[in-house]
Amino acid sequence: RRVGFAIVGLGRLSLNQILPAFGSSEYSKPVALVSGDRAKAAKIAAQYGINGSAIYGYANYEELAKNPEVKAIYIVLPNGMHEEYVVRGAKTGKHILCEKPMATSSKEAEHMITACKQAKVKLMIAYRQQYEPHNRALRQLVTEGKLGELRGFVSSNSQQEGDPAQWRLKRSLSGGGCLPDVGLYCLNAARFLSGEEPSEVMAQTWQPKDDLRFVEVEASCSFSLRFPSGYTATCTTSYDVHKSQFLRMEGTSAWAEMSPAFAYHGNKLKWSHLDGEHENEIAPQIEEKDQFALEMDHFAECILEGIEPKTPGEEGLRDHRVMEAIYESARTGKRVKL
Ligand code: NAD
Repeated sequence: RRVGFAIVGLGRLSLNQILPAFGSSEYSKPVALVSGDRAKAAKIAAQYGINGSAIYGYANYEELAKNPEVKAIYIVLPNGMHEEYVVRGAKTGKHILCEKPMATSSKEAEHMITACKQAKVKLMIAYRQQYEPHNRALRQLVTEGKLGELRGFVSSNSQQEGDPAQWRLKRSLSGGGCLPDVGLYCLNAARFLSGEEPSEVMAQTWQPKDDLRFVEVEASCSFSLRFPSGYTATCTTSYDVHKSQFLRMEGTSAWAEMSPAFAYHGNKLKWSHLDGEHENEIAPQIEEKDQFALEMDHFAECILEGIEPKTPGEEGLRDHRVMEAIYESARTGKRVKL
């Protein structure tokens, strides 16, 4: 009872994370590949036991409709191509899993949601951190009230992006710089872990004039989100900082910290509260599982059981609306209400 996936785009994420993750999945299997490079796709198909007749190009992508083994299409292309491939994919009648960020604007995200609704197919955005065991354990601490009332969230997700020619630094293909690519993890975590939606945004971006990498997009961004309950999130993200990723949540009864918070492997969680005068720090033992396998298995279960994904298109759309408010605040220097 495994759901067949077609993988669209054979770049770094597909080759290094997604395809290997099928080996740890329970309900998912790769059955088709869509690539611009047929020879490369044939080699990968052989490696994963995918039938050579189930290799498609971008031009004949719609022929997936005729392959009954394919139940789900996983879009792993540059962000600026997500809208086109989700809309074309929905017309094949297959369910769609789309990488984050969902698109390059909220307008595109809305169009993708409408197209999938019209085609009566499911749309899920691949927010892997929401399926990752340490992040889920922290969400559970929050829902169980272990942290008390939430007051603060501080997080950063940054890395060095070297090659000035890559699509991540071209606005039409990326939709922005570090914010939609890696800063999105901080934004999504601030929302997902609290279960609250922000009402106001303040932000700044930095785009150095003398760095060839940042001609079209920001190098760094810092933003703060205000939530109606009084909870606030302060986040930073950069493409010009050594790899750094953490989060810390503060509540009235305890704090919790993850460092790293958004890694593929090796995430760590601890939390602490005062026991009288004594600081009682707890590092729960959480079994590491392949978060890409968990994410694909969730989508497979949604298809098998006819239920809605935990991270539907609407989840991606909410983040796009907040990111647009972040850019507007950075541009105008003003607080932006959502
Ligand atoms: P990549 O550059 O390694 O791969 C992109 C693929 O798209 C390549 O196979 C490339 O040949 C193909 N492609 C087709 N048309 C293209 C064009 N016009 N320009 C550039 N490439 C083109 O990128 P990636 O790191 O695999 O990222 C793909 C998607 O996955 C992005 O949306 C990214 O945000 C997302 N991603 C998510 C995670 C995660 O942890 N969930 C991690 C990395 C990337």
